[in-house]
Amino acid sequence: MVINFAAGPAKLPDEVLKEVQQELLDYNGTGMSVMEMSHRGAVYTKIHEDAIKSIRELLNVPDNYKVLLMQGGGTGQFSAVCMNLIGRTGSADYIVTGSWSLKAYKEASKYGTANLVFPKPDKFTTIPNQSEWKLNPNASYVYYCDNETVDGVEFDFIPETHNIPLVCDMSSNFMSRTFDVSKFGLIFAGAQKNIGPSGVTVVIIRDDLIGHALKITPSVFDYADVAKNNSVSNTPPTFIIYFCSRVFEWIKRNGGIEGMNKLAMKKSSLIYNTINNSNNFYTCPVDERYRSRMNLPFRIKGGDETLEKEFLKKAEQLGMMQLKGHRSVGGIRTSLYNAITVENAEFLNKFMNEFYKNNK
Ligand code: PMP
Repeated sequence: MVINFAAGPAKLPDEVLKEVQQELLDYNGTGMSVMEMSHRGAVYTKIHEDAIKSIRELLNVPDNYKVLLMQGGGTGQFSAVCMNLIGRTGSADYIVTGSWSLKAYKEASKYGTANLVFPKPDKFTTIPNQSEWKLNPNASYVYYCDNETVDGVEFDFIPETHNIPLVCDMSSNFMSRTFDVSKFGLIFAGAQKNIGPSGVTVVIIRDDLIGHALKITPSVFDYADVAKNNSVSNTPPTFIIYFCSRVFEWIKRNGGIEGMNKLAMKKSSLIYNTINNSNNFYTCPVDERYRSRMNLPFRIKGGDETLEKEFLKKAEQLGMMQLKGHRSVGGIRTSLYNAITVENAEFLNKFMNEFYKNNK
């Protein structure tokens, strides 16, 4: 048995993998794979439209928002967001709470003035109080990352921006908890953590923010162009979108987004409790309030690399893969995305307790 605790691309629901396998050579009696179909044919068009419909339904997306399916990953959106939205005033505010929002901030500086809302800390372990933020009333938008995949810092609130459009990177906690879409100007998320394989990025954007792209914006990144063509202005990643649509059905069968949140709370509190009750054998650097339900970084004995290597080796022998922390923070990181079952998390938790007993 192998359990894949990777940060993304990540574990996908077994049930969906099997479903897709069954349909791989013959989709719904068509005699061909979805991979081989025209992106403008009736069969694929239905798959595409159903995927968008499911996103709208699962997240309760209001009518004045468009759902776009784009390529270029989260990184592509670092540029696209800026090229499409910064034109209004030429500047934007960035809330930098980890390495991904830092990357987005750096990218934005290519297209306008990007301001840090608070100074960049040396280590990303918390979210400064909103009263300390310096928001620019003239910003075209305020940007943040809801869950920092590398650092394990997750927001437990939606920033207040006083009517300036709020832009959110939800790549690593998308569809893991409910949220009020109407509080946002734009939300984007790469698929490869919670909703499918890599290759498609979901963008949810309020209608009034569409149509203001800088002249240099490539058409594939221009939200107006993508929206006008219902995300088929060029060939979309058809098979990936099909796969995601199957994951959406799986989420619906498993309690919807609230069901995913309940599971995430259960799985992550199991591991955090073990960390907290280990007498500092395991330590998580993140402030308790902002500890991520999706990505849980921790060290062993204050960063004993020999012991951490031993932990990873033993874990792999038991089939638990990809638990190594990101190279920039070291240690261990477990990711507990939607497809990780409670049993998977319990298995890891049991191993952590045993490893603690044998090495404390
Ligand atoms: N944002 C977040 C929060 C991420 O975790 C990642 C990495 N998967 C990215 C953006 C960049 O995504 P991509 O590799 O798809 O460009």
